[in-house]
Amino acid sequence: MSLRVGVLALQGDTREHLAALREAGAEASTVRRASELDAVDALVIPGGESTTMSHLLREFELLEPLRTRLADGMPAYGSCAGMILLATEILDAGAEGREAVPLGGIDMTVRRNAFGRQVDSFEGDIDFHGLDGPAHAVFIRAPWVERVGPDVQVLARAGDHIVAVRQRRVLATAFHPEMTGDRRVHKLFVDVVAHRA
Ligand code: GLN
Repeated sequence: MSLRVGVLALQGDTREHLAALREAGAEASTVRRASELDAVDALVIPGGESTTMSHLLREFELLEPLRTRLADGMPAYGSCAGMILLATEILDAGAEGREAVPLGGIDMTVRRNAFGRQVDSFEGDIDFHGLDGPAHAVFIRAPWVERVGPDVQVLARAGDHIVAVRQRRVLATAFHPEMTGDRRVHKLFVDVVAHRA
């Protein structure tokens, strides 16, 4: 049976993730409502703007259902804004009343727009634990991870900063593999969903 992986489709680069997941061998569909979330085995939260996505998660009444699925162990992968949302704590979360809200998929503290204060966007090749050779990483107003809990595995760093992590069956990257032709991170996630990794 093929794995059904949803992509949160409220805002952000949904289409790139759908394409990447299909190329990685999953059955991929968009998630905009609770019934669509119920129908998937796993979820990708795309890059975009975490404050806007947080607002829309409330508007679409997805915030609590998503927190519940994550607490129940649903596999998930977040890139950039998705990494921010998967955290347990967000620093520089945004203007009052419009803050990015943590969903608590990974025990970590993430600083929003951390690299953005230094340089808006940049690219580079970084070592990524478990991949055969470096990954080309595209960072766009990217976060970094400032603290990880004891159960969190660091998968990649850019300089001194943690930029990819895994806790059990939840992955997050500060960069955007969906924007490159390299499908290895999505394949890794599909393997995690399938209990192969
Ligand atoms: N800075 C954005 C945020 O706070 C993330 C940027 C991205 O996803 N490329 O959500």
